[in-house]
Amino acid sequence: MKVLLATLAGLLPLSLAGCGTQKVLLGTEGHYLLTTMDEMVLPGKSVSLTARVQAGDLLRPQVGCVVRFYRDGCLYRVTETDQEGLGSVRFRPDRPGDFPFEVVISPVGLRDTAPAPQTLRVCCRAQDAPLVIVDLDKTIVADGFHAVLLGNPEPADHSPPVMQRLAQTHTIVYLTHRPDYFSKKSKTWIEQHGFPPGPVLLSSLSGFLKGSEAFKSERIAELRRRFTRLEIGIGDKFSDALAYHQNVLKAYLLVQLPSSSRREDWESLLADLETLPPEIQVVRDWHQIDAALFRQASYPPAATIEFVREQIRRLSQTNAASMPNDQGVAQPQGEQPPRTVESPGL
Ligand SMILES: [Mg+2]
Repeated sequence: MKVLLATLAGLLPLSLAGCGTQKVLLGTEGHYLLTTMDEMVLPGKSVSLTARVQAGDLLRPQVGCVVRFYRDGCLYRVTETDQEGLGSVRFRPDRPGDFPFEVVISPVGLRDTAPAPQTLRVCCRAQDAPLVIVDLDKTIVADGFHAVLLGNPEPADHSPPVMQRLAQTHTIVYLTHRPDYFSKKSKTWIEQHGFPPGPVLLSSLSGFLKGSEAFKSERIAELRRRFTRLEIGIGDKFSDALAYHQNVLKAYLLVQLPSSSRREDWESLLADLETLPPEIQVVRDWHQIDAALFRQASYPPAATIEFVREQIRRLSQTNAASMPNDQGVAQPQGEQPPRTVESPGL
């Protein structure tokens, strides 16, 4: 709940800020916010193409906006937004493939410049297509959600080439607890930083309020009912790893080591690690993920547990005076490293 409240506090500016702030936070270009929802679907099954239009300081739903869906440059369907600002049409792909639609809001009737067109990706795959589920914040994104709110964070070191290699054999599904307000910003970031294309699944408001673990568990379970080969899951939170593991994915936990020399932080991490099933791979960076995925390296929780116990032993011996940080650099005596700002847990 504490994390959820922190996240909500982080999102508060969205509803209170003017358009300039919205541009920074959400990547919008003007008065309007256009959100598109990517989808995964089986061949021959119908899926909803949904866009949402909101506007103003309170992001009010915009009723009666004309929404055009284009495919391969040709108009596919037109609809109008409803009372919730949602416009939906149906699409039924007859074969596996990627079906990107361009979603365009007509400027007719708008009192400000129409939002820029956005892509909505329908990813159609056979039931037995191999899938990878990957998180965004503190996973392929080097930093946490606060960096996403305030700027353009860097990708985690070595994550783009690993994801590109994975994409040669698997469909990449980006699954994040970020609210769908961040659809445009998330998709743009993924594309700009050299990650392979794939559907970006974000949380609705109701999914967001459930919390990350419940949201991801439900979304993965829903995917598993349709797709039989969800094989790999990569994320930075224990709840990510457990959601992957409970749904029979090979789980990779990008563990976040404390940057402080506070013994309580290390003991808390140790307690969490000791609850993990031994099948979960606990890795420190994307080089280890690379080694585990492609060179048969193994990183069971026990290895990190032993490392953390050793840090606690050293911390006890030195009375917190020379605790190494996660780069192995000793902190000067009497000087504590700054504690990392806990970003909302996404
Ligand atoms: Mg994360």
